[in-house]
Amino acid sequence: MVGGSVRTLRVRVPAKVNLHLGVGPRRSDGYHEVATVLQTIAVHDTLHLGLRGDMPAAHPAARRSMRIALTVGDEEVASGAGSSNGVSPDALTAGVPVDGDNLVMIAASRLMAFLGIEQAGTDDDDPTTPTTHLRLTKRIPVAAGMAGGSADAAAALVGLNRLWEADLDAETLCGIAAEIGSDVPFCVRGGSALATGTGTAVARVLTQGSANWVVGIDRAPLSTADVYAAFDGLAPPAPTDPSMVLQALRTGELDALAAALHNDLEPAAMLLRPALEQRREAMVRAGALGTIVSGSGPTLLALARDAADARRLAAAVEGHFDAVEVAVSPAGGPELVPGRNG
Ligand code: ATP
Repeated sequence: MVGGSVRTLRVRVPAKVNLHLGVGPRRSDGYHEVATVLQTIAVHDTLHLGLRGDMPAAHPAARRSMRIALTVGDEEVASGAGSSNGVSPDALTAGVPVDGDNLVMIAASRLMAFLGIEQAGTDDDDPTTPTTHLRLTKRIPVAAGMAGGSADAAAALVGLNRLWEADLDAETLCGIAAEIGSDVPFCVRGGSALATGTGTAVARVLTQGSANWVVGIDRAPLSTADVYAAFDGLAPPAPTDPSMVLQALRTGELDALAAALHNDLEPAAMLLRPALEQRREAMVRAGALGTIVSGSGPTLLALARDAADARRLAAAVEGHFDAVEVAVSPAGGPELVPGRNG
């Protein structure tokens, strides 16, 4: 590690929920067309970023090569370390890759390629090569239908864009994001949006007010690919459209939102995780206005009347889940907090 200046900042990035998820049949390329209304929800991961080294200039054009090191939990991996390492053992980070497969590292690589910066391997001991250190703190449940990995990729794009003073605009970042994963462009901007195509065509939607949720967390992951495979095995759902949810968001009417919540993947998620049905019934018995499985699950959300009602509901159903949180949506987008020299 070289001496010199250290610039630091951190990015708090929210999870997402799908308030409407309509899924079309499987296409010949394996993807499904979707029409989905997405909203960020205030369950956050935090990405800490630090740039260390003596640099002639802050702008990435001044650097030909860069080392990237990522820490998740206690494990650190440097760029070029390969992809066969283990995963972090911590309950909040179980299943999160600590190597180049982590979506943070994939996003960093894509951004570097876009900016023409070469990724230095672990064998590069040139003391003038700057190092970007990334540390990921997870609160968003993993493989839970809340786009935690996509949110982390978005945090990396937004944070590195600032740390490296690359000055790319949101549209350019969204273009890079779309190559990483279908939820990443939404996560770059946050807020409330309608996404179509494979999920990467994102349009902002108007909303009034906010919604209070109980987030019922199941720490046993459910793979998105498995849920889509189960969906393909079921009879195709009747076509739906997101207009009721969009209308409820426009007027801010909670009862209308509760009645409009819809997820085509729910039957498939419940087939693979039958306990979801009893958990949903528990939420309804406890007085939830409405419930929905988030994305491909297994996270289950209950809509509450207000913050106090959400706390009451959470206390009533916590025994049914590994953890419960109360959280508000929409939750804005990635939030940059400058640090030393940041
Ligand atoms: P989706 O975006 O399909 O809804 P999800 O929210 O269900 O995904 P994620 O938490 O994004 O699930 O994790 C899906 C998989 O992505 C994990 O099982 C893990 O192997 C991998 N992954 C890569 N990077 C990350 C990351 N930073 N955080 C969480 N998972 C990651």
